Amino acid sequence: MALIEIRDLAKSFGNVKAVDDISLDIESGEFITLLGPSGSGKTTVLRMIAGFEDPDAGSIKLNGEDITHLPPFDRDVNTVFQDYALFPHMSVQENVEYGLRTRKVPKAERAKQALEAIASVKLEETVNRLPHQLSGGQRQRIALARALVLRPRVLLLDEPLGALDRQLREEMQVELKKIQRDAGITFVFVTHDQEEAMRMSDRIVVFNSGRIEQVGTPEQVYEEPRTNFVAGFLGTANIFSVDVAQKFLGATTTVSIRPERIRLQAPETKIDKSETSVKGTVQEAAFVGANTIYILETDFGVKLTVRKTNTELLGQDNSFVAGDQVMAVWRDSHVAQIPV
Ligand code: ATP
Repeated sequence: MALIEIRDLAKSFGNVKAVDDISLDIESGEFITLLGPSGSGKTTVLRMIAGFEDPDAGSIKLNGEDITHLPPFDRDVNTVFQDYALFPHMSVQENVEYGLRTRKVPKAERAKQALEAIASVKLEETVNRLPHQLSGGQRQRIALARALVLRPRVLLLDEPLGALDRQLREEMQVELKKIQRDAGITFVFVTHDQEEAMRMSDRIVVFNSGRIEQVGTPEQVYEEPRTNFVAGFLGTANIFSVDVAQKFLGATTTVSIRPERIRLQAPETKIDKSETSVKGTVQEAAFVGANTIYILETDFGVKLTVRKTNTELLGQDNSFVAGDQVMAVWRDSHVAQIPV
């Protein structure tokens, strides 16, 4: 039995169908991410699991118990919001102790558990400070400690890293994942950042317009997208419509090829039997540090994006420039068929 069972869940605001009949199982101990563009319904699903929003239809079970219409405090879940929502007039320790105090945990035990939780996010030196005396990243970690100290079965996190700058965000991604693994708590994480989702999650749920497009491991949703939307939303994809794919590649569905799976070589050079090639002209070659991104106009009328890793210094490898005639080559096994 899954820890959380969501069945046929729906929620509208006026005539906007924010969540349109979704079903999902979340396993105990997993790090699952709800990923999708702005307005796709991720937060509304999270808020229904938390109990802040009442569904129009469907059900949510936690550990076998129907919690669909229970008030938030009667559910064994906790939420960490993007704006942290720390109490400004309370010290770090008091903030972390707050939930234990409302549960009437005795003072000494409260302090012990709070200090442990603060230590788990490595902020022991800040216990007596007020929230405004912390950096954004530190506030975020305290918000996490405050939720973890209650040892919920499930922690819901709504874009918790959204306000952090890029470097801190990447550090926190690693830390959050570690904290989750160590605490063994189920994390349901909301983000619109696909790289963040892939980096942290055991499984990703891709949302679009209130519906689930695909559920899978990061590798599955990236390598085997089931819809055009998923192929285009996770990373960059060269998508050939079924007509083009049929005509030039002999495929029977729409297909997608990732830019990093295509290499460029001089025209009329040798390729392997298991590979396909197409001729084209380089329209643009952009050096972006670790990679060079090429845009090709191909002979079969579609543009291709090709990504080459810059393993050599510029000019010391066989790089191409705009205007060059080239051959784009890929292994047939790297072509993903998109069924829908
Ligand atoms: P974001 O990444 O921008 O937070 P999201 O995927 O989390 O987006 P939701 O916040 O779940 O999306 O919103 C889904 C849809 O429901 C949007 O069209 C939104 O405008 C609408 N919506 C959400 N909450 C309300 C509300 N309280 N009242 C009216 N409409 C709402």
